[in-house]
Amino acid sequence: MNKEIATPIRTKAILDKYGFSFKKSLGQNFLIDTNILRKIVEAAGITGETGTIEIGPGIGALTEQLAKVSRKTVAFEIDQRLLPILADTLSPYQNVKVIHHDFLKANVPAVIEEEFGPDTDLVVAANLPYYITTPIIMKILEERLPVRAIVVMLQKEVADRISAKPGSKDYGSLSIAIQYYTRAETVMIVPKTVFVPQPNVDSAVIRLSVRKEPAVSVMDEQFFFEVTRASFAQRRKTILNNLTSQLAGGKEKKDKILAALRTAEIEPSRRGETLSLEEFARLSNALMPSFR
Ligand code: SAM
Repeated sequence: MNKEIATPIRTKAILDKYGFSFKKSLGQNFLIDTNILRKIVEAAGITGETGTIEIGPGIGALTEQLAKVSRKTVAFEIDQRLLPILADTLSPYQNVKVIHHDFLKANVPAVIEEEFGPDTDLVVAANLPYYITTPIIMKILEERLPVRAIVVMLQKEVADRISAKPGSKDYGSLSIAIQYYTRAETVMIVPKTVFVPQPNVDSAVIRLSVRKEPAVSVMDEQFFFEVTRASFAQRRKTILNNLTSQLAGGKEKKDKILAALRTAEIEPSRRGETLSLEEFARLSNALMPSFR
């Protein structure tokens, strides 16, 4: 019987057999440590009933571990050269479907409908291509794909920003966008040595448990995110100065911004990084009538 794909020896044999050369531009850093993969699978709470969606299977290292425990795995891979390799490495698993598509451009709801049908317990699990980690996560959340959790490997620095709390240097509009939709936790920090080729940065696995309802109630989501982005435009500026300079028509409406800050009970001299999600929600709701 073949060894598992994610061992250094088997990975090397597969890469040699196909003469595969890594494309840095596609974020190709393959995992060669089955323990880490098992921890990803464990963190996702996958059972025999669970359907899994993977982004970027590579040569199938994680896909294999997902296939062993879940009902079915659908994996999106952009690199055509990997398709024959995956057909070979994943041939023992009948419950895997590889789709040759850019995940960012894919009609994922249609794929879910076709491959899993309604009411399936669904999770996303991936060792993400690092050049597009945020767009991939935001696509899953903004399109409100019916998934229970997202468990992914990404740059440690991005994981820190995603799970940051108010008052910390990492807290910003990304923390708010993701915590609005999910509960975010870091599962583990991962050393560079478990990848070929080794990336330049440290990595981490995070679990995003998707909330049934967003963390806070806002009148207009788009405007809420606009206000949070504006508030962090220049981190050293006060919330009043950032909103006045960043919101369209902000300079002329300074009085209205001051009034909204008063209504939301937020001191104009505070900095964006000190505001909680609740405070941003109160603020954007109070600003709405003047800006929308
Ligand atoms: N899952 C494998 C592993 O852990 O060894 C490979 C992970 S590697 C970090 C990222 C994978 O994503 C590569 O196979 C790459 O070709 C693929 N990829 C890059 N951009 C993609 C995109 N937009 N859509 C789908 N797959 C993509």
